[in-house]
Amino acid sequence: MSQTRVLITGAGGFIGHHLVTFLRAKGYWVRGVDIKVPEYSDIDADEFEVLDLRRWDNCLQATRGIDEVYGLAADMGGMGFISAHHSEILHNNSLINTHTLDAARLNGVNRYFYTSSACVYPEFKQTEANVVPLKEEDAYPAMPQDAYGWEKLVMERLCTHYREDYGIRTRIVRFHNIFGPQGTWEGGREKAPAALSRKVAIAKLTGNHEIEMWGDGEQTRSFCYIDDCLEGIYRLMRSDHTFPLNLGSDRMVTINELAHIVARIAGIEITIKHIDGPQGVRGRNSDNTRLREVLKWEPQLTLEEGLQNTYTWIEQQVSQKLGLPIPK
Ligand code: NAD
Repeated sequence: MSQTRVLITGAGGFIGHHLVTFLRAKGYWVRGVDIKVPEYSDIDADEFEVLDLRRWDNCLQATRGIDEVYGLAADMGGMGFISAHHSEILHNNSLINTHTLDAARLNGVNRYFYTSSACVYPEFKQTEANVVPLKEEDAYPAMPQDAYGWEKLVMERLCTHYREDYGIRTRIVRFHNIFGPQGTWEGGREKAPAALSRKVAIAKLTGNHEIEMWGDGEQTRSFCYIDDCLEGIYRLMRSDHTFPLNLGSDRMVTINELAHIVARIAGIEITIKHIDGPQGVRGRNSDNTRLREVLKWEPQLTLEEGLQNTYTWIEQQVSQKLGLPIPK
């Protein structure tokens, strides 16, 4: 049997780079495409092309001779980035996704995996820290908080219509805060687990144990480790489920708790200085009822296990960058 040829867009980024390694280990032939090469380790793909996927001609080039597409390319980041770049995000991501999906159709791609987000859920269902976990159908009536979520929601619709009108087998996932090693940890696009790991690592390496946090830290989220995310992606792509599906953990923690778990892993006591800053919705958690039904599985790693791996990697990065040895 000939090898299935897959394209992973956003293969220079966090989840895409891990997915390249994961799918190659499963025996797939993998082409990676991104506007940049991976920052933290070598390219693992059979073929890697640096292409700007906002451009239609580049999307045709990227999808040539491909059986399955995993669309992960996006102009995105944590709350700081998402809340301050609405036009850029909506413009760039609409172009990337519209062009990649249509090029895939023209090139006869069989399956197409679209990476949506928990940011599609309406702001009015996420006003309390002790929030009711979000079910897939809660996305409507729609009122996402940011342009990032609106774009994801519209592209979910586009994938659905392309499946109905052209027969391309689209699968749609809604990730809830994926984290792990080799994700952005500095520069403004990093998310809470990476940002807190960096701050705790700096505290440990410098001896100044005060860290800053946006807001009162009582806002809640759930966090899913990258290995579970990869397994979930794979199971959903192989399934017959055509509707959007949550993929995340359903253990909700406050951001204060998250910081203290990281500090315990680092072996230090921290004090938190709360400062003004973007916080996103007040509370968010994933309802995993449908995930369990459809995938016959749910994320396995504990938050502590995932953060242990993530913190260790970020501590090494910070230590190298600052030229400070890791204390024993
Ligand atoms: P990431 O930022 O690490 O990766 C995205 C990649 O897309 C980057 O490497 C970036 O260079 C690339 N990209 C941006 N513009 C491009 C362009 N014009 N042409 C080609 N490549 C371009 O993000 P990630 O965390 O790996 O996220 C992957 C996907 O999952 C994204 O679609 C994101 O919106 C979605 N998602 C992620 C999370 C999460 O918690 N990480 C949550 C919800 C949804």
